Amino acid sequence: MSVGFEGSVLVLNKFYLPINMISVKRAFVILYKDTGEILDEVDSQIRPFSFNEWIDFSADRNGDRDYVRTIRHRIAIPRIIRLTRCFSMPKYEVKLTKKNVLLRDGYKCQYCNKGYQLNKLTIDHIIPKSKGGKSVWTNIVTACMNCNLKKGGRLPWEVGMKLLRSPSAPHTNPLLSQKLRNGNYKVWGYFLNNADI
Ligand SMILES: [Zn+2]
Repeated sequence: MSVGFEGSVLVLNKFYLPINMISVKRAFVILYKDTGEILDEVDSQIRPFSFNEWIDFSADRNGDRDYVRTIRHRIAIPRIIRLTRCFSMPKYEVKLTKKNVLLRDGYKCQYCNKGYQLNKLTIDHIIPKSKGGKSVWTNIVTACMNCNLKKGGRLPWEVGMKLLRSPSAPHTNPLLSQKLRNGNYKVWGYFLNNADI
């Protein structure tokens, strides 16, 4: 059990379809505004809770959850909320962001295969933008600072560099796959198959 606002909350639309992943803080804002309900697993079944019911439910639990503290209550962190008035439908496309590229590539430079910390990695346009390269999944890979510098604004084969594999768009959101491997998010499995959010 830990205390704090860390982690993510899965957001479902009115039809129980996953549409987003948000921070715990944002989830609480939604709950305070009373525009969502919480879903959680109780005795192997998914049960809906209003925010007030959830606060009571939190008080009855001892130590098996992550919590946040307010002046009056100790509230368990919800892992799924459903926006009961939201009709938006999921977009089955993984967003092209630096973070998602690094996750897809396992935080490894795709030229030298070395793993680095986040701040030592950058993203490289295989065909540089200056040569008409596009910002698409198939033209972007994770690169370390050294390889990025060595390559400069050239094509990999012009400087004798080779890619470990040809990059492609991920079928599932890499961050989501990572979360699903974490026991804290087991309950998400009820609502996610190969859905991307
Ligand atoms: Zn490298």
